[in-house]
Amino acid sequence: MRENINEKCAVVGIFGHEEASKLAYFSLHSLQHRGQEAAGISSSDGTKLHTIKDRGLVMRVFNEEKLATLSGSSAVGHTRYSTAGDDSILDAQPVFARYDLGEMAIVHNGNLTNAEVVRSKLIEQGAIFQTFMDTENLIHLIAKSQQEKLQDRIIDAVQKIEGAFSLVFLSRTKMFAMRDRHGFRPLSLGRLSNGGYIVASETCAFDLVGAKYIRDVEPGELLVFEEGKAPQSVKVFEATPKHCIFEYVYFARPDSHVFGQSVYQTRKNMGKELAKMSPVEADVVIPVPDGGVPAAIGYSQESGIPYEMGIMRNHYVGRTFIEPTQEMRDLKVKMKLSPMEEIIKGKRVVVVDDSIVRGTTSRRIIRMLKEAGASEVHMRVSSPPTTDPCFYGVDTPTKEKLIAANMTVDEICKYIEADSLGYLDEAALLKSVNATDDNENYCTACFTGKYIV
Ligand code: SF4
Repeated sequence: MRENINEKCAVVGIFGHEEASKLAYFSLHSLQHRGQEAAGISSSDGTKLHTIKDRGLVMRVFNEEKLATLSGSSAVGHTRYSTAGDDSILDAQPVFARYDLGEMAIVHNGNLTNAEVVRSKLIEQGAIFQTFMDTENLIHLIAKSQQEKLQDRIIDAVQKIEGAFSLVFLSRTKMFAMRDRHGFRPLSLGRLSNGGYIVASETCAFDLVGAKYIRDVEPGELLVFEEGKAPQSVKVFEATPKHCIFEYVYFARPDSHVFGQSVYQTRKNMGKELAKMSPVEADVVIPVPDGGVPAAIGYSQESGIPYEMGIMRNHYVGRTFIEPTQEMRDLKVKMKLSPMEEIIKGKRVVVVDDSIVRGTTSRRIIRMLKEAGASEVHMRVSSPPTTDPCFYGVDTPTKEKLIAANMTVDEICKYIEADSLGYLDEAALLKSVNATDDNENYCTACFTGKYIV
């Protein structure tokens, strides 16, 4: 159960389908786990863009009537967890603008690391900003560019930004999809059953709308979608891949393929590696749902210790407006997770989670398992200690609040009141995702502090 590491956002683009906004809506449903604070869709009918966005879940923001107003055969959509900016409606996406070439809408997953510098320069030059979003910088850079075509203006603009960006742009007649040179955040290309195209943060969106995966948008690549033509590929930057390894650890849905691999399989591999690195004599392996499930299955298969669902998760608990007292916080965890006494009582339990952030939730879970009668609780974590915050579009607490930045593994074990604690190390994590030995292609900065940008 996650405590304060949150995936940023999801993006989707549909091109060449008469019900583009409906397909964008269904795709956003599949991507809801990447952001629950706001959702939005812009569509183009060829002459005009239409936009609806609001705070809340996709299902709350849209209904049949609203979708009917989003007419046209192309659409872009977004779900947001606030990263850069704040959580007001102004900071929901798509970001829409009118400029000298017409109208455009942009959706963005990631975080721009030089956003403040770029924004200050733009303000000095007279730009007026409506939001705190780094994405708004792009609108200004595109509007100011001297290039004649939008495609060239986009290329101009992305040369001036740094950091993590998977972007989809919509104009009246074209759609553009772009990833930064490192490809921090995922973005895949698929084909709709009518011959149109879809791009989305994760392939689970393709499955729902019946699209077939073609390939990933390459790091540094701009894809141009134009009516009657196959997507045209423009190499804007030399690709130097540094995919976010946390997508495999926790963020992406297990039924997705990201960066060309099954998320479920990589998570199971992590569990197997964890069992090799950190074995323990125990009676049962249980996951912290939902994030720990595939790794716990892997741990069980490798160790031969039976797997059971020892903790049930209540999926219907939303945000609770309860007092932040110790007692109430314990109650909040219990509202979400309840132990299965018949599985746990009198047993030596291995409990598997994907990561430990502050340690407070792990401690509550371990207390809960002991109260339910576990004779021993051994915590196993299917990623290395999270020691550093993310600057590439993931909401993480500051270093002071990350338990692994401030305590040794033994100290964390004591703090969370586990009988033993074992983490995966970086090499085993890389092995689980089939990385090369020198970790050429992955960002692991939140475990190592080695930032790329
Ligand atoms: S710092 Fe961590 S969460 Fe951020 S992109 Fe790198 S691996 Fe992903």
